[in-house]
Amino acid sequence: MLQDKDRIFTNLYGFQDFGLKAAQARGNWDGTKALIDKGRDWIISEMKSSGLRGRGGAGFPTGLKWSFMPKESDGRPSYLVVNADEGEPGTCKDREIMRNDPHTLIEGCLLAAFAMNAHAGYIYIRGEFYHEASNLQLAIDQAYEAGLLGKNACGSGWDFDLYVHLGAGAYICGEETALIESLEGKKGQPRLKPPFPANAGLYGCPTTVNNVESIAVVPEILRRGGAWFTGFGRENNHGTKLFAISGHVNQPCTVEESMSIPLRELIEKHCGGVRGGWDNLLAVIPGGSSVPLITKDICDDVLMDFDALRAVGSGLGTAAVIVMDKSTDIVYAIARLSEFYKHESCGQCTPCREGTGWMARIMSRMVRGEATLDEIDLLWDVTKQVEGHTICALGDAAAWPIQGLIRHFRPEMERRIKEYRARIAA
Ligand code: NAD
Ligand code: SF4
Repeated sequence: MLQDKDRIFTNLYGFQDFGLKAAQARGNWDGTKALIDKGRDWIISEMKSSGLRGRGGAGFPTGLKWSFMPKESDGRPSYLVVNADEGEPGTCKDREIMRNDPHTLIEGCLLAAFAMNAHAGYIYIRGEFYHEASNLQLAIDQAYEAGLLGKNACGSGWDFDLYVHLGAGAYICGEETALIESLEGKKGQPRLKPPFPANAGLYGCPTTVNNVESIAVVPEILRRGGAWFTGFGRENNHGTKLFAISGHVNQPCTVEESMSIPLRELIEKHCGGVRGGWDNLLAVIPGGSSVPLITKDICDDVLMDFDALRAVGSGLGTAAVIVMDKSTDIVYAIARLSEFYKHESCGQCTPCREGTGWMARIMSRMVRGEATLDEIDLLWDVTKQVEGHTICALGDAAAWPIQGLIRHFRPEMERRIKEYRARIAA
């Protein structure tokens, strides 16, 4: 279990003030200028050596992503964009940072922007996060007043302005290129990649889009060193990590823990265990709604990291752990997600626009038991026609939960159909 001295987020639960003075007393903004003085190559190399993998869900190495940004300006400005459009069902970690520990993020923005030659940063925040946006803006105002942002930020000689932009509630605007479109004032629809944002991002300029948690851990990594961060977790899965655990546990919570912690330990140590005890567990969605569920036998031993969860056919995603006990109607639970993805599809590409509708309709027939047995294979086939054939990851995200359901709960789907047929035949 992670010790208090190793926690990066020391005010995650808002027991102390989120403002500047209290944040400085907790160690934020300590020696920021000295870190900048070490230069951008040092910062990027330290981030690479920390092994930090993006905390928004995809797990792309952060230091490597930063290194794609041009070292010298070609006449175009560079931008830092923070993805604070936390919309993945089950995910509620970034909002705790912005609400209770916003200076970790703001200091991280300055350091990241400096490392990538950016004089402006935009925090694109989910429209529903009114309190978070308000706290964040207050904290930014304090940082400006104290000379930590703006001209000659922190006395470092680097000018840096930071803006908060509220979204309007579309899940798809959390996809980085849809977010960029939205920030430019257009309809939030994903762009084809490549080009990646580092080549052509905001206003066609070099841009790096990073998740809130990825940026908020930067100052502490630089202060304590990349090697300190690699002291947590397993090879290729390093660091401390925020886990948001919800559903059928006794005490749902968001907690910072060591990467690669066993799932069972995470739930039992921090959430008071599964409602009704571990043996009452049915399944867990371990990384936000976009990853396939895993069943109890897998949960017994699995570690919470990118590689361990991939090895069991799921993923760490946003590390939002949705726990479902045996009282769960698992077919209905996944059908509800299908409805969500159908609603949030931007409609731009045919496999996703049409496929999410097909999947949601068949799933709703499955819930009622009205489907036929061959429709289980048809449903599988539809997911395969969507997966990997769309512009952005929403298509995969809609397909994977259903694939997980069919893989692990086919007998339950068949039982419903047979019972319904028997009822109407009687
Ligand atoms: P992705 O793998 O396409 O990209 C990840 C990041 O790496 C992006 O910033 C991308 O630009 C960069 N990248 C990848 N390959 C690159 C290359 N060759 N060159 C340069 N840059 C490269 O994934 P994604 O679509 O950004 O994210 C999908 C994930 O988002 C899903 O797995 C899901 O878990 C997560 N998600 C999170 C939320 C949330 O609320 N946090 C919401 C929806 C989805
Ligand atoms: Fe839009 Fe879906 Fe295509 Fe993504 S996959 S671009 S959400 S239609």
